[in-house]
Amino acid sequence: MTPMDVIVSLCKRRGFVFQSSEIYGGTGSCWDYGPLGVELKNNIKRVWWRDFVQQRGDMVGLDASILMHATVWKASGHVDNFTDPMVDCRECKHRFRADQVAEMAWMHYCEATKGNKFTIPAGEACRHCGARRTLCPECGKGQLTAPRQFNLMFKTFMGPVEEDASVTYLRPETAQGIFVNFDNVLQSTRRKLPFGIGQIGKAFRNEITPGNFIFRTREFEQMEIEFFVNPHETIDGRPADEHWHDRWIAECQAWFTRYGLQPDHVKLHEHAGDELAHYSKRTVDLLYHFPMGWSELMGIANRTDYDLKQHAKFSGKSLTWFDEERKEHLVPFVIEPSAGVDRALLAFLLDAYREEEVRGEKRVVLRFHSELAPVKIAVLPLLKKRPEIVATGQDLRARLARRWVAIYDDTAAIGRLYRRQDEVGTPYCVTVDVKTVGDPDKGEVGDQRVTIRERDSMQQIRVPIAELEKVFASLLEGGGWAEVAAAYPRAES
Ligand code: ATP
Repeated sequence: MTPMDVIVSLCKRRGFVFQSSEIYGGTGSCWDYGPLGVELKNNIKRVWWRDFVQQRGDMVGLDASILMHATVWKASGHVDNFTDPMVDCRECKHRFRADQVAEMAWMHYCEATKGNKFTIPAGEACRHCGARRTLCPECGKGQLTAPRQFNLMFKTFMGPVEEDASVTYLRPETAQGIFVNFDNVLQSTRRKLPFGIGQIGKAFRNEITPGNFIFRTREFEQMEIEFFVNPHETIDGRPADEHWHDRWIAECQAWFTRYGLQPDHVKLHEHAGDELAHYSKRTVDLLYHFPMGWSELMGIANRTDYDLKQHAKFSGKSLTWFDEERKEHLVPFVIEPSAGVDRALLAFLLDAYREEEVRGEKRVVLRFHSELAPVKIAVLPLLKKRPEIVATGQDLRARLARRWVAIYDDTAAIGRLYRRQDEVGTPYCVTVDVKTVGDPDKGEVGDQRVTIRERDSMQQIRVPIAELEKVFASLLEGGGWAEVAAAYPRAES
């Protein structure tokens, strides 16, 4: 598994992710996506939206506002239940999530070794005195308070007056925007069950212990689906909600592996009864093998009819669907696949990262799926002293950039330019050289061909400039490298 610090440093060095407000010392829990990070993130969201919303006949999209009527959060149960148990150290005043203390390495002053200080791995006892942790894991000295419930919602005020009547919250999940629009979508689209509403957007949680880079932050983005089903229907002898729950679990898992996660780095976790949220009949998490251990990448919950019923109760509006067959109004059950964009991005980065040895030299490469790669094509001149080579390269970049993210770089020698592109996962490089443009002083016109190099195999082919768009359409929107490369002569690497 790639260590987290290797990814954090690559992200900063190459412009994927920067610490928020870094020049002021940073915030510790917020991150900014740089030039490559924003492309990667947009690609993840675009592919998710295309696959789960646009290409399916049973889905539509929504973009609800972040600030909502305060009663939404009362009805959803977030005001009363969206809490984590928090403990404080009486000495160093550090705060921890009570349920995470046991999973932390802990500081220990060992009496058996004249009070020497040790850091002991999570859950283990001291090798010298056999003691187990009872005090603060951070300072090793203070007692921890009894757990108190801490609400994770960010409170704010709507309007110019800071008074109780204007209190509202930054949404802690995008889901509620979908539930409160259920009837609007139903009326405007004339949908029949089963159907789903997808949404991508920011969510905010005042996490007690944010950390592990972009894994747990206070501001993050979610890609959520609420898939409404008829609870009275049976499919293959099972209630429709249970059938659809299993289908969504399988589809989500397949989606992550299709775009690059190794199948053995993803596994399912079934929530035990006491782990289930108050609204859930069954929840299954997709866990990813992050550097800090198996952790949640996304959750797929059967939220039953809880949310629609709650909003109907608090708003006084009917939130039902009319079943023509049975001639009855019913409240649909809902299956909710909910993924974090930032956690997905971190998992895709970790899984794509490879260190390889090529001709005795270390090569770092991000083997991104080409749909996720931030830059698809890098146009590189072999000699930047020759104006015809530079002009042809810049012209090619402009042409290709109409359809794909393409960059031009001439700030180093070719070997280094390739390394730089490998390190950010660019699937294809196009090299313009002397043979392409010929030598006008000698009356040579050049062969008007360029070299395309593929990132993973490092194979190179020679392709006529006139065919570049066609070739990249095949490579990036159709077949793979082997098929396309077979049609062109190999170039020497
Ligand atoms: P956790 O147990 O890790 O706090 P959760 O079970 O509270 O997560 P959900 O409420 O199921 O998370 O949210 C759905 C998804 O949103 C998560 O699977 C995760 O990908 C993402 N997510 C939730 N909280 C955060 C956060 N603080 N930072 C980044 N992503 C988050």
